[in-house]
Amino acid sequence: MILIDGKKEAANLREELKKEVSQLKTKYNKVPSLTVILIGDLTPSQIYVRNKEKSAKEVGLKSEVIKYPDRVEETTILNKIHELNKDETVSGILVQLPLPRHINKKKVIEAIIPEKDVDGFHPMNVGNLSSGYESSVPCTPLGCYLLIKKVEPNLSGKKAVVIGRSNLNGKPMTQLLLKENCTVTITHSKTKDLKGECLKGDIVVAAVGIPELVKGDWIKKDSIVIDVGINKTEKGIVGDVAFEEVSKIAKAITPVPGGVGPMTIACLLKNTIECFKRLQS
Ligand code: NAD
Repeated sequence: MILIDGKKEAANLREELKKEVSQLKTKYNKVPSLTVILIGDLTPSQIYVRNKEKSAKEVGLKSEVIKYPDRVEETTILNKIHELNKDETVSGILVQLPLPRHINKKKVIEAIIPEKDVDGFHPMNVGNLSSGYESSVPCTPLGCYLLIKKVEPNLSGKKAVVIGRSNLNGKPMTQLLLKENCTVTITHSKTKDLKGECLKGDIVVAAVGIPELVKGDWIKKDSIVIDVGINKTEKGIVGDVAFEEVSKIAKAITPVPGGVGPMTIACLLKNTIECFKRLQS
């Protein structure tokens, strides 16, 4: 069984990105820069943003965090985004989610120009991804995709089952696997026979948010299992996959923690660099 080491893969990716940033600096005499907007004082968001800033600096990117109090007006945020859109020194803009309830998420996502949308949430990027065109791709599914490709470089003709249909994870994951010529089944809370669907998968990606939902007898022998879930339980953080059982059946599996999580931030840095390069051309 291959334990897919997301920490190691993310460190390797950061190393590659660091070299690329250094080459870009030589070529353009400037480095990509990421601006994160953080609203309110939700602890997990603060931790994510701090980690994003630390990783950005590590690979040589410029990074800035703009903080607003919880009660900030929506127009203040939209005006700041418009300003950052026009700022030539900014390559990528990210507004940390979730947002306070009085701020319209759709408006915020659509305010960021697609060229600087490092999260890949803008409808233009979503459309480009589904059309098979160049686009920013949401960081978590991009990280999953890179991990799957490390284990199995040729995915053509493989059966993939994605559990969860969120815009953040399930849907973009489906598009990435489709682009690799997988036959993809996307399942969700209304799927009739989830176990039966999972058993058909050469690749199973679980992005649900239910602790250890996917059991050992849901998985075909020698499949690749990617666990996106992060669930707080009495026994600590667990994924959406019953790791002990599934790891006895699968060919390869990501642990939680230490699997998909570390790749997400590394992919954000990758997206920032891609945005920078597209803005130069
Ligand atoms: P979401 O709540 O937006 O979507 C969950 C999806 O699961 C929905 O499409 C729903 O239809 C489906 N679902 C719910 N119950 C189901 C069931 N019983 N059977 C089958 N499908 C079911 O969640 P999300 O934002 O996509 O996040 C999913 C999980 O991934 C969460 O645990 C979240 O914390 C985690 N996550 C991890 C990372 C990371 O970096 N590793 C990033 C984002 C999210």
